[in-house]
Amino acid sequence: MKMDYRDTERGAEVAARTEAFLEEEVLPREREWLGGRDAGSDSDRQAEGEALVEELREEARERDVFAPQLSEEYGGLGLAFEDLLPVFEQAGRSILATRAMHVAAPDEGNMHILELAGTEAQKERWLGPLARGEITSGFSMTEPAQGGGSDPKQVQTTAERDGDEYVITGHKWWTTQGSEADLLVVVARTDWEAHPYVGCSLFLVPADTAGVEIRRDVPHIGESGLSHAEITYDHVRVPEENMLGAENAGLAVAQQRLGPARLTHCMRFIGMADRALDVAKAYMNERTAFGDPLIEKQALRFDISDAEMRLHAARTMVRHAARTLVADGEARVEVAMSKVFAAETTQDIIDTCVQICGGNGIGKDLPLADFYENVRAFRIVDGADEVHLRSIAKRALDEDEIHPAELEYLTRFREDLSVGGE
Ligand SMILES: Cc1cc2nc3c(=O)[nH]c(=O)nc-3n(C[C@H](O)[C@H](O)[C@H](O)COP(=O)(O)OP(=O)(O)OC[C@H]3O[C@@H](n4cnc5c(N)ncnc54)[C@H](O)[C@@H]3O)c2cc1C
Repeated sequence: MKMDYRDTERGAEVAARTEAFLEEEVLPREREWLGGRDAGSDSDRQAEGEALVEELREEARERDVFAPQLSEEYGGLGLAFEDLLPVFEQAGRSILATRAMHVAAPDEGNMHILELAGTEAQKERWLGPLARGEITSGFSMTEPAQGGGSDPKQVQTTAERDGDEYVITGHKWWTTQGSEADLLVVVARTDWEAHPYVGCSLFLVPADTAGVEIRRDVPHIGESGLSHAEITYDHVRVPEENMLGAENAGLAVAQQRLGPARLTHCMRFIGMADRALDVAKAYMNERTAFGDPLIEKQALRFDISDAEMRLHAARTMVRHAARTLVADGEARVEVAMSKVFAAETTQDIIDTCVQICGGNGIGKDLPLADFYENVRAFRIVDGADEVHLRSIAKRALDEDEIHPAELEYLTRFREDLSVGGE
């Protein structure tokens, strides 16, 4: 549903161009890339998919919608974070569009921290080629149990200094795009004595460095054209200048990636849910059952109302969090609330849209089945729901003031009365 969110003029203008790019270039070719593709070998499909992304990237550059989040110096549009809100939402309407516009995770987040924390030499070597789409990257933080997962304090991968090099040893998995990546951003412990939140550092590891081994792509639900790799790092040597940000400040630097990245994820998934609604509405309009078009059925009309209402709330929360993040440099609770709420809402809406479209919701002629498979991970990636609820509870219950006076008139057990009727 169109609603005026008072987005910035620049954001609205690029969002309009993005909408045209999707309508005219991306959506007509989406089925070639996603589930509707003709059966063929996996490697053929992969190669065809990459060729299509490349072709669309050229078109995105010509239409001035390529990498809107990157500074102009690196070939982007240099939009401010708030300008991105409606643009990422438009891009999120198609999984293919996020790749074509170079706004997809994990490159988007990795480019962001390289721009933020990288040295000039690091930017020249990696950010330039990444921004141009010549190389790809992965972010390697999560480890199999009992390593780092929901609790980053459990990171077991280590990086030990040896002269002017670091030697990285550890085991990661779920590194998105890890199998294809040329560059891996690795989180490793550099100080076991320090408090775990300050004992980790980030390293830029070229994927062809000796000791880096891609073990497998973890089989998973959802097709986004990207792998999620299990990787071992066996005494991988990198020069000290490959450290990204300050030593032992890795989780703080990663946080600078994760805060905005959680919101850009929300924006993309809100776009996906909005498109799912468009598909469901079109189906309701055309399909009849029991004498009427589905669009006349009150139960389904209420489903749509509920979805629109919740999506509006999600959009509003994300915008509030983004504005707080820009103004204060931090918006921990606002981001946590937006992330949990947007993930639940978009998952529920996509599920509703699948239901409304019946068998067509499950089939892959429409984009809903791909959306359904992809949205589930959103409640887990970038921090599972419970991890964010923990932060919200900490603010609500441990940091906010408790007001005992509110219970002034509460009736309590009269302890002055003696037991047994004496
Ligand atoms: C599609 C996908 C892509 C990913 N991409 C990347 C990537 O590029 N790079 C990367 O480093 N990682 C990536 N991940 C990993 C992701 O970040 C982790 O899966 C996530 O942080 C949860 O960690 P875990 O899987 O180890 O779950 P665990 O830590 O084992 O947690 C399991 C569950 O326990 C519950 N839980 C956790 N803490 C609490 C608590 N305090 N209270 C109550 N319940 C709790 C939650 O429900 C959680 O889902 C990806 C994962 C997926 C599925």
